[in-house]
Amino acid sequence: MTDQCIFCRIARGDIPSDMLDRDHTAFVIRDINPKASTHLLVIPLEHVTRIADFKVDGGGLLGHMMLMARDAARREGMVESGYRLVINQGPDSGQEVDHLHLHVLGGNRLGAMG
Ligand code: 5GP
Ligand code: ZN
Repeated sequence: MTDQCIFCRIARGDIPSDMLDRDHTAFVIRDINPKASTHLLVIPLEHVTRIADFKVDGGGLLGHMMLMARDAARREGMVESGYRLVINQGPDSGQEVDHLHLHVLGGNRLGAMG
């Protein structure tokens, strides 16, 4: 948890958000600047910048985030139409927010990955 991090501030409730789901580990919100018809973010409560920064095995957290994404995608009606899960990591990926997050993109045909 850091003072300035935007996702930590949302987690604390300092910044209002449309919290779609939340448990003891992570929460789900809509992206403020959506890159698809449906664009959700699965965000761990704990401040971790990148997967490489896990101090202990982060497999449980990552798996939990994936399952939260699956459940959110189901609620958004994207099981049959499909969706894309993306985790940007560092400069070449264009990661803007230095707090680990999983993008859930769908609701329309997505372009090729580049
Ligand atoms: P990144 O490029 O780091 O993988 O993705 C960061 C995402 O966070 C971007 O898609 C951006 O639109 C989104 N974002 C940044 N600030 C906020 C915010 O305050 N609220 C929400 N809901 N999304 C945000
Ligand atoms: Zn943070």
